[in-house]
Amino acid sequence: MPSIDKPAQGYRGRFAPSPTGPLHFGSLVAAVGSYLDARAAGGEWLLRMEDVDEPRTVAGAAAAILHSLERLGFAWDGEVVYQSRRKPLYRAAFERLRLAGAVFACACTRREVADSALGIDAAPRYPGTCRNGLPQAREARAWRLKVEPGKVCFEDVLQGRICQDLAAEVGDFIVLRADGCFAYQLAVVTDDAEEGISHVVRGADLLDSTPRQICLQRHLGLAQPTYLHLPAAVNAAGEKLSKQTRAKPIDVARPQAALVAALEFLGQQPPADLQDAGLDHLWRWAIMNWNRSGLPSCRFAAVPEAY
Ligand code: GLU
Repeated sequence: MPSIDKPAQGYRGRFAPSPTGPLHFGSLVAAVGSYLDARAAGGEWLLRMEDVDEPRTVAGAAAAILHSLERLGFAWDGEVVYQSRRKPLYRAAFERLRLAGAVFACACTRREVADSALGIDAAPRYPGTCRNGLPQAREARAWRLKVEPGKVCFEDVLQGRICQDLAAEVGDFIVLRADGCFAYQLAVVTDDAEEGISHVVRGADLLDSTPRQICLQRHLGLAQPTYLHLPAAVNAAGEKLSKQTRAKPIDVARPQAALVAALEFLGQQPPADLQDAGLDHLWRWAIMNWNRSGLPSCRFAAVPEAY
């Protein structure tokens, strides 16, 4: 298991928000956690806009998120990467899977798989209808990865050993959607490898996606980054913060208040006067005092009342 105290050498981390709305407390926590873990290790921190899901992307949201991150005093390395401009990379990864016979064309509509037994996340588990060829007179809509029975396991720095039997819990999953968009799972794996990301620090709402990503890395012969899944912020109803659950945008007029709240959520112990300190001072304190051992190892935690 990777050590909780000592991040590895040659650290390159990233923050990868989906521009579906403004920065909210849940995404702020992922930004703060990934930034501090990288900077405390003397590492780089890259920014990627995950706008591969074009129908869900909201015009102006990427610019608004960047503006908020700037106002909060984040400093990223290099140019911001946009998934919408990297389709040839995803196409090349998809072609490698196709040539290796790892994917198959699927004609099923959402309605046709809706009655299947439920897998992880209460999503229907693909019953394998088109695995051995398209049914007569049906056309390919999406492409799925063939998953093999057996557990995919990894050591999460914070959550410990995580195992998932993809065949039993997820089923053959989509890598190229019926609407022509590459699936998040394929895009994120391609980007993490292409950008040389060594550490993925993100919310534990993505923990269940990680075995799918590792499975793709293995098929594509890509290095597996170290994973650290932070507690994901949930509202009073236990729902993940998002635009759908009407999460409030972070008030960047009061950056210190939001950052201190995120530090506290992450089990750090900011001194009371940090609220009134300059942003430079706040960030210096946070980097110097970043303490992985203080992180709560739960998957979900309640968002503070003000957020
Ligand atoms: N774009 C994803 C989100 O905003 C994060 C993906 C990741 O960090 O791997 O939830």
